[in-house]
Amino acid sequence: MLETTIAGSLPKPAWLAKPGMLWAPWELTGEELAAAKRDATLLALKEQEDAGIDIVTDGEQSRQHFVHGFLEQIEGVDFGRRVAMGIRNNRYQALVPTVTGRLRRKASVHASEASIARAHTKRRLKFTLPGPMTIVDTIADAFYGDKVALAMAFAELLNDEARELAAIGVDVIQFDEPAFNVYAEAVTEWGIAALHRAAEGLAYKTAVHICYGYGIKANIDWKASLGPEWRQYEAIFPALAGSRIDQVSVECAGAKVPLELLGLLAGKDVLLGAIDVASDHIETPEEVAATIEQALSFVPAERLFPCTNCGMAPMSRPVAIGKLGALAPAPPSPAPGLPQSASRTERFR
Ligand code: ZN
Repeated sequence: MLETTIAGSLPKPAWLAKPGMLWAPWELTGEELAAAKRDATLLALKEQEDAGIDIVTDGEQSRQHFVHGFLEQIEGVDFGRRVAMGIRNNRYQALVPTVTGRLRRKASVHASEASIARAHTKRRLKFTLPGPMTIVDTIADAFYGDKVALAMAFAELLNDEARELAAIGVDVIQFDEPAFNVYAEAVTEWGIAALHRAAEGLAYKTAVHICYGYGIKANIDWKASLGPEWRQYEAIFPALAGSRIDQVSVECAGAKVPLELLGLLAGKDVLLGAIDVASDHIETPEEVAATIEQALSFVPAERLFPCTNCGMAPMSRPVAIGKLGALAPAPPSPAPGLPQSASRTERFR
């Protein structure tokens, strides 16, 4: 039986943040906000466990955005100096903070929610961090003056953070790099080197998530312009296959990605996007099975992990929960007398 996981985020409850949008403002402040984030993290874990997801996340309930959640705790990043900037090669405008000085991590960024998640699930826990290239693409720079130097500076901070998360008991660290799908040349020139710096010395599994973005209009329009076959992955998969990252999370459901491209990831675990996040249609078990079946022609079963295409942060909660159930339709049922996860955990680590 294939083990399932999710890309990372789940929608937040309406009492925590405004639903249905990215960069959603918090509904609470101070200690009330901290308590609400904790409660939402527990719910996110429970929803995944109930759906039968094997490798769970905190649902990213404690961060406003997958990039800016990390940046908020970094000295040298000025959120008072926000500028409108075209990101992902000008696909859409975002209000981004500015780097105004040497970067330094003030303290642990995600230790608190990782500890809460670790304390409340016995399943393997994946934790997501933004990748260096995607951070550089989501921030204005008035200090370093060089993309690669800036990416390497962030990679160093990410590495410190990742090492702390490992000490808390996280099993997988995933770096989210949607920018990899936009700047293929830069991926081979310095993107993977920056990722290696971020993952340096980590004794647990590392993953990179590369997708065509959240199911928002700008991304849907972009995808519509990509023609009958989306071959962006073709330019970067060989370099990723040669990298030291263990797992690659990709978008395959409702996408025009030719699945034979997965064959270029030989030797890597593939987190197969079998759930579309750009549609509210809840996949049937047959639809999920068909995506998996096709992928199995190019990826050995022991390396295939059914997953969502991308984060589900901006979706409605009932739809997201329905999609979790579609991803893992059968709850795990260990044979009587057999310890459920000993051998699986061994294989996984
Ligand atoms: Zn994504």
